[in-house]
Amino acid sequence: MPHSALSHLECSKTGKRYDADQVQGVSDAGAPLLARYDLEQVAATVTPADIATRPADLWRYHEVLPVRDEANIVSLGEGMTPLLPLPSYGAAIGVPGLLMKDEGLVPTGTFKARGAAAGVSRAKELGVTGVAMPTNGNAGAAWALYAARAGMKSLIAMPVDAPAITRAECVVAGAELYLVDGLIGDAGKLVAAAVAERTGYQEVSTLKEPYRLEGKKTMGYEIVEQLGWHAPDVILYPAGGGVGHIGIYKALLEMRELGWLGGDLPRLVAVQAEGCAPIVEAFEAGKDESEPFPDAHTVAFGITVPKALGDFLVLDAVRATEGTAIAVSDAELLAEQAELARHEGAFICPEGAACMAAAKRLRASGWLREGDRTVVLNTGAGIKYPETVTVDVPTLAVDSRIPTPSAG
Ligand SMILES: *Cc1c(COP(=O)(O)O)cnc(C)c1O
Repeated sequence: MPHSALSHLECSKTGKRYDADQVQGVSDAGAPLLARYDLEQVAATVTPADIATRPADLWRYHEVLPVRDEANIVSLGEGMTPLLPLPSYGAAIGVPGLLMKDEGLVPTGTFKARGAAAGVSRAKELGVTGVAMPTNGNAGAAWALYAARAGMKSLIAMPVDAPAITRAECVVAGAELYLVDGLIGDAGKLVAAAVAERTGYQEVSTLKEPYRLEGKKTMGYEIVEQLGWHAPDVILYPAGGGVGHIGIYKALLEMRELGWLGGDLPRLVAVQAEGCAPIVEAFEAGKDESEPFPDAHTVAFGITVPKALGDFLVLDAVRATEGTAIAVSDAELLAEQAELARHEGAFICPEGAACMAAAKRLRASGWLREGDRTVVLNTGAGIKYPETVTVDVPTLAVDSRIPTPSAG
């Protein structure tokens, strides 16, 4: 069995085949390309028991990842994040079995490291010397750092409002960084124009190269493996560019084909913020594609994507699994961020907190049942977003006293 069973790429709209061993962008139809593997060969040679003996990172699924030569793997130790029970918070919102997959614990503090690890590794394998991307911050930070580890150049453009720490991550990695007075789409136009004038750079915008998705799909493999090769009933995920949903759904279908997963697929929930909810609007309107969301704004910056290239794939994944799409307000998600930290000691990112708020609402409406085995993805660490918490405490003079709490 070769290290990777990658066979070809396929247009997500037309099914047309593309060569996986050349650098590829989108298909002729302008749609994302999906990596396809010889799953029959994998099923015949690898078992879940074999996987259990491998190191605890995402490369344990290497047969269904795109890197052909192990020597090309660029890793900072990403993957196999904990699936934490949330007994106290879960009981408070009426979902006692609630689980949180904590992506705050991957290198760079968000799940974006998974996509960067797979994407940078495969780009290196195919001879790319520089990567270029627009970003809402976290992806740019991850790709800049993984590119540095690979000895590649990186060109990153992000909105001036993106979380400040992500700028520092790009700068410290030696990336060529630009701040843009606009949104991610505006940054994307500038990057595309720059790449057209350079050689050796590949544009690696969300779903405009095929392998970031492959890294992110490992969240789906891990959830199922961590539940003893069973799917949960429901997975909630904050939808921005939609790669998480598309990747997790792709992983579920692959595992089913491999014979590693039986039974019903989990209902996939796309969570957005009310200030930027194009996928929720399209879902509610019964449409196959979203409309650009006007005046997008939310504290959950990672999901400020007014129009995602892969929106039709997210909508398909949600509908095919009998899931749903729901938007929550910034006030709701910030309240749940604090509730979760107080109940469970986990400081999660606002995007993850949006999923907690969504779980609470879906439970209240009855869509989520008390006994549903429910997994919420916390996509990043709260410590990347210090500005989401207002700190209003006294500064003491050295000769003063800390007050004694009053009795009762
Ligand atoms: C990018 C990002 C998201 C959105 O993920 P997609 O896979 O693009 O939908 C959610 N949360 C955080 C913290 C992010 O950085």
